[in-house]
Amino acid sequence: MSKQAAAVGGFLFLCPSLTAVFQRGYSVRGRELRLPNIHRIYFDHNATTPVEAEVLAAMLPYFSAEFGNASSIHSFGQGTRGAVERARIAVAALIGAQASEIAFTSGGTESDNLAIFGIAGGESSARRHIITTQIEHSAALHSCEALAKRGIDVTFVPVNRAGVVDPAEVRRALRPETVLITIMHANNEIGTLQPLEEIGRIAKEADVWFHADAVQSVGKVPLDVNALGVDLLSLSAHKIYGPKGVGALYVRSGTPMEPLLFGGSHERDRRPGTENVPGIVGLGRAAELAREKLSDDAARISRLRDKFEKGVLAAVSGARVNGADAARVPNTSNIMFPEISSESLLIALDMKGLACSSGSACSSGAVNPSHVLTAIGLAAAEARSSLRFSLGRHTTEADVDLVIAMIPQEVARLRAISPENKKPVTVK
Ligand code: PLP
Repeated sequence: MSKQAAAVGGFLFLCPSLTAVFQRGYSVRGRELRLPNIHRIYFDHNATTPVEAEVLAAMLPYFSAEFGNASSIHSFGQGTRGAVERARIAVAALIGAQASEIAFTSGGTESDNLAIFGIAGGESSARRHIITTQIEHSAALHSCEALAKRGIDVTFVPVNRAGVVDPAEVRRALRPETVLITIMHANNEIGTLQPLEEIGRIAKEADVWFHADAVQSVGKVPLDVNALGVDLLSLSAHKIYGPKGVGALYVRSGTPMEPLLFGGSHERDRRPGTENVPGIVGLGRAAELAREKLSDDAARISRLRDKFEKGVLAAVSGARVNGADAARVPNTSNIMFPEISSESLLIALDMKGLACSSGSACSSGAVNPSHVLTAIGLAAAEARSSLRFSLGRHTTEADVDLVIAMIPQEVARLRAISPENKKPVTVK
């Protein structure tokens, strides 16, 4: 390592998450810290997925020849309007909705914000209580926290050690003034699926609106908005092999949702702004592919995920799968490696060519343990020793075999150099 790289490394030691970014080869003051060309394996599909070639091909004409504004009356506009409406039908078909119930947004974060603020954010609403869980994605969690600052009561229902919310706890949290229940379908860190059907029945009986963040379950498990009993549901294109910066919110017909933005009457007055036509077309094509491939993908990926977990647990002493006792999406595996800092292991694996993720957040130079892992009962040290591996449509058996060999080696190496394993020096 050059002197400069060492200096940068020392600085970045203050925030290990940043270290991971830099060591992946970004330039630092004009100098590059590039890694040698090695076989790269991507086990971070919950962060984002590659855009499928068919999706890109469907999008490309809408950047150039098909450039009309979908609101224009002339033929340029009518061409793109047709493409947007075909995408709406494809997204609706993936989740069992009607096309008119789909509003396109800029992604999962906006969909969650629109659902939560759009139902519960009204200043004049007499019903000022929301129920959510302790393990939501920050897009929903921070929306609820922002509403709490505006005087809306929020109940953060806990989950059990398996990472699942008990519907009876949701029922107990209901109050006459409850306006919204917002609960994610699959957790992004540990993959556990929440019992939405049962919660949907509870919401209906209580006459409370029900929103689900399904960003991590759409395309991974079969999903039907009517079977789940949801009134609103968020999804995002870049988690299903579509482009970044586009998503959708399902809004059941008759749901009184206020818009977040003000402008034109696009998306049936639910979300103004000239449509991102290439993005929407990409989401539509990704939704069609997800529908076609869902059952094959789920069977193949869950088999690979199970093989991966079995291989790693057999070779790493003390390793444990977080959320293993619950129903999970097929691709996600969150593993705790005792005595290991997840950031160090993440970086070591990245240097060997494997991309995965830690749920910890770096703030003010300190690494905060994941709120999801602490909510399922892990001690802070256990949470800081956990990594998320998320497989995808293009993960191969050969990749899984390589990873099963790589992880135990890297864990053993890090354990050997850990300060806790150093023998005390005796002065003679
Ligand atoms: N909700 C969940 C569960 C997610 O995992 C994510 C992204 O990781 C989001 C919402 C936000 O989606 P987007 O990245 O499209 O804003």
